[in-house]
Amino acid sequence: NKILEIKNLYHSYNHELILENINLHLLEGEFLGIIGPNGAGKSTLLKIIVGIIKPLKGTVKVFNKDVQFLNEEKKWIGYVPQKPDLEKYLPLKVKEIVALGRRVANNWQKLTAYDFDLIDRVMEEMEIKDIENKIYGELSGGQQQRVLIARALAQEPKLLILDEPTVGVDISTQNKFYTLLRNFKKQNTSVILVSHDIGIITKEVDKLACLNRKLYLHGCPEEIAIHGT
Ligand code: ADP
Ligand code: ADP
Repeated sequence: NKILEIKNLYHSYNHELILENINLHLLEGEFLGIIGPNGAGKSTLLKIIVGIIKPLKGTVKVFNKDVQFLNEEKKWIGYVPQKPDLEKYLPLKVKEIVALGRRVANNWQKLTAYDFDLIDRVMEEMEIKDIENKIYGELSGGQQQRVLIARALAQEPKLLILDEPTVGVDISTQNKFYTLLRNFKKQNTSVILVSHDIGIITKEVDKLACLNRKLYLHGCPEEIAIHGT
């Protein structure tokens, strides 16, 4: 069952080609890691998969449907952006932001006991329960990142897209996060993780791809330096 299928994808900014002939598919429960140097097009690719950016050329199907035409199904995509839209979160409390993820998944219906339980559980798992009433704008970078991860997890997504999710997050929380991801995998959630942490990424993922304008599905070619990026 294909959760994601990308064919002949191209993208450019100001006539400069950033993504060239990307072909990729992801099955249910598959965990793909993507590495690559700065400016390689990783964030751009993720934004195209989530539907924020419309590609120059090619097809992107998520849940067997063109991502540009997803409606309801959008709620099954969880996304942790590298640079979140801070403005909208700054004045909100931690628990309100995590609840937002749940509300998306719940079609903005009234939250039930199940929803509140889930919200509490992911806050506990991401160790932000004790700061649930704090204002997002007043948190440290690592705490903010944990809130955004919790928000995406509260959606119970079928496809989880993570753009450097643990930058600024302490090692102990990182480890818990990866344990959580493993549980998600058991629930058949498909995950795409962009990370510079090669140690973690090679340990956790099923498939590792390297991106540098082109996507290399069988690891990085010699000439692409990935260390220290
Ligand atoms: P990565 O995530 O691998 O670091 P990005 O996808 O963020 O790479 O960026 C790829 C290239 O595209 C970079 O050279 C970046 O400067 C450029 N770029 C990214 N976003 C834009 C934009 N909105 N407008 C113009 N250029 C952009
Ligand atoms: P970025 O800072 O990378 O642009 P944002 O969090 O600001 O990311 O989101 C921008 C847009 O991305 C939103 O208007 C929304 O359409 C889409 N988006 C954000 N989060 C999700 C999500 N969890 N699932 C699907 N689409 C999302």
